This record gives sequence, structure tokens and C-alpha cells, in this order.
Amino acid sequence: MNNLKKFLIIFTGLLFIPILANGCTKKQETELLQTIQSRGKMIVGVRYDTKPFGFINEKEEVKGFDVDLCKELAKRILGDENAIEFQQVTSSNRIFSITSGTVDFAAATMTITNKRERIIDFSIPYYIAGQAVMVPENSNIQSIGDLSGKKIIVVLGSTSEKNIRELFPAAMVLGFRTYTDAFSALKNGRGDALTTDDTIIYGFISENKGFKMLDERLTRESYGLGFKKGKEVSSLIETINFTLQEMMEDGTITGLEEKWTSDLNKK
Ligand code: GLU
Repeated sequence: MNNLKKFLIIFTGLLFIPILANGCTKKQETELLQTIQSRGKMIVGVRYDTKPFGFINEKEEVKGFDVDLCKELAKRILGDENAIEFQQVTSSNRIFSITSGTVDFAAATMTITNKRERIIDFSIPYYIAGQAVMVPENSNIQSIGDLSGKKIIVVLGSTSEKNIRELFPAAMVLGFRTYTDAFSALKNGRGDALTTDDTIIYGFISENKGFKMLDERLTRESYGLGFKKGKEVSSLIETINFTLQEMMEDGTITGLEEKWTSDLNKK
């Protein structure tokens, strides 16, 4: 073989390397929906600290609105409501759980915001909550205006934390990792008020005497399921959005609202 022929063979071979490598990457980028289907279950990030949306009951089972919603999605998409594995997420780690691929998506009382939409994708909204304030029953805080100069308890990474810091720059904000810790702090008098979604406050008030929720709301918060960004996720988001839409039209979502938040809606 002369040198020119050898060169041409090696050169042509080299040309194929990027094509093959590209082929491999494509394989790794299998559609997430397909991965879920072949794995036989969805891996979903839910809350353990936001009753009635995500919590652990006496039997150590994970329950709540977000949990039921995902079981229904598993039933309609995979044919089995138990084709699902739940993983705990918090307000501050849920976005990383999504972007790192630890979970396929999160159903975690997560408000759709422009800032979050730069990092992750959201489903269509499936619930509307509002930021509220909880205080001890005997508190002299009667309205949101009374919060200035007070010690306000929040959960880190929540929209409530961001909103309250903007609204009351002079307030002292005490941040916790979970709502369980945040509520304990309020109970122990470490702060004057706790602010988060009315849904979550309602969960605490219905089980603990001596606390009340102020009537005003600071915001309207549309909850969405959170997904990693990327082409490989788009068919999962489409399928879930289609299914959520179906669940809205056939009354399933209203049924979940009645089951988990009916007393709150009456207020
Ligand atoms: N819905 C709000 C949020 O997404 C507050 C509740 C929470 O911490 O999850 O930040």
C-alpha cells in the first residue's frame, strides 16, 4: 500500500469518529418518557413537610394532594398508580434534584415563576395558592402591615422568603430548611410570624390550636410540576400536560381539591 492510500484510509476513519461519538451521545439522550416506560416507574420529588400537599402519615406513608396527583398521572400514563417512586425534596433542594436528574420531575408546592423558568420547565398550572401569614392567636399582628420590624420565619428557597425580603427590607427574616422546623420555631417563640402559602399554613392550623392565619394574601401562586430543561424531556412534559388537562376537564383535580383543601377553600 502506498503512503497516499494509507493516509486516505486513516483520514476517512478519523472522519467517522465524530459521527460515531455523536451517535453515542444521542443514545444517552433517550427521551425521558421512554426511560420511564422501560424502567416501569416514575421517580418523583415530593414534599414531606407541606401537609396537605406532601407529608408522611402515622404509617410512614407519603400522602397528600401532590402525591395523589402523581399517582393519577402514573395510572393514566403507565397503567398503574403504584408505578412511582417518591423522593423527598425541600424548598431549597428541589430545583437541583430536577436539574441533576435525581428525579424525573417534582410535584412540590412549587410556584411557577419567571426566575425559576430560566432554570427548569414547568407543566401547566394545576393549583392556585396565595402567600399568607400565620401568627399565634394572641399576637398583636392583625394585618400584613404590622409585620414591619418583626421577626418573620420563612423556609429558605421559597417564593415567600423572596417576597417578604422585598416587601419588608428592614424585617428580620429567620430562615429554615423545612416547614416542620419553621413551625417549631414559631411555636417556640423564636419569631413573631411565619409566612408561606395559605395551603401549608392551613395544614398546620388544622392540627395545632393557638395559631391563626391573617385574611390578606400577598400573592397568587400557581403551582406547576417542575422538569429539567432539554429536548429529551419535551415528550414527557407534553404527555403530562395533556393528562393534566384531561384531569381538569373530567373533574379529577376538583376532586383532589375537595379531598385535601376543602376547608381552606371555604375560608
Ligand atoms: N409555593 C411557594 C414556592 O414555590 C412556597 C411553598 C414552598 O416553599 O414550596 O416557593
